[in-house]
Amino acid sequence: MKIGFIGLGNMGAPMAANLVKAGHQVTGFDLAAPMPEGVTKAATAAEAAKGQEVVVTMLPDGSILRAVAADILKGMDKGAVHLDCSTVDVDSARAVADQAAALGVLAVDAPVSGGVGGATAGTLTFMAGGSEDAFEKVRPLFDVMGQKAVHCGPSGNGQAAKICNNMILGATMIATCEAFALADKLGLARDKMFDVVSTSSGYSWTMNAYCPAPGIGPKSPADNDYKPGFAAELMLKDLRLSQQAAEAVDADTPMGKRAADLYAEYVEQEGGRGMDFSAMLPRFVKRGRS
Ligand code: NAD
Repeated sequence: MKIGFIGLGNMGAPMAANLVKAGHQVTGFDLAAPMPEGVTKAATAAEAAKGQEVVVTMLPDGSILRAVAADILKGMDKGAVHLDCSTVDVDSARAVADQAAALGVLAVDAPVSGGVGGATAGTLTFMAGGSEDAFEKVRPLFDVMGQKAVHCGPSGNGQAAKICNNMILGATMIATCEAFALADKLGLARDKMFDVVSTSSGYSWTMNAYCPAPGIGPKSPADNDYKPGFAAELMLKDLRLSQQAAEAVDADTPMGKRAADLYAEYVEQEGGRGMDFSAMLPRFVKRGRS
């Protein structure tokens, strides 16, 4: 396929590189990042998008997505697909999809989970919103860049699935970390705690697959001095998006709100920026109740 790719940062670059490897013809644009090998550089976003069958965007946030979409959609062919893989607020995803529809362009919002490692290995999971038609057109690209794509419903539902998942993830990581810190103070060895919890009703992905305690369970960022992995500030971004969405639809999400507040304190006041989100464990270990 002829593909435009806008936003070739930490995630976008390896995703575009995998599309090139699979034989697609990729034209890219980024304000700052260099083009990966095999990607033809365009002078502007609009130029990268013009005449392509699919245009992928992988951008930092909703306001940048809205600006880029306003720039590129009008030059795209009718029936072409705008595939946005960024993590953005649900409202921006739906607004951009409406704008595309008005111009006869198909839209899919498909944020990812799997991080830079998944982007490089081509094993991302895509959570997609948009019409069945649009989803089917980009399915072959999901197969190249990822290992699983779930069609979650109409536009914006990909973003909805992503922020609901990550709200659970953030709250669960905090619960796992505070339980380890309590166990320490009660004199319960971490490996015993892992042995019990990972096979009992307190188990979770954060305990079993991404254990925040070093030297226990499968290898995780805790075993690498809490280098990310999934950075605490990206978790904060997603938790804030979930709170923004919850406010918009009047949903009561007290655990998600507390998780957002704790990650905000950690990232913005306690030096957590650049640390993996599982570094909540050493944070709790250092603290008492007040
Ligand atoms: P990044 O900052 O490394 O990349 C974003 C790129 O967009 C940068 O290269 C930047 O120069 C470019 N850019 C910004 N404004 C632009 C514009 N107007 N026109 C063209 N290019 C522009 O970020 P990333 O880590 O690659 O993340 C991208 C998206 O993926 C984010 O929405 C993020 O939340 C999401 N995400 C990231 C991860 C991760 O682990 N990094 C995991 C899942 C989802």
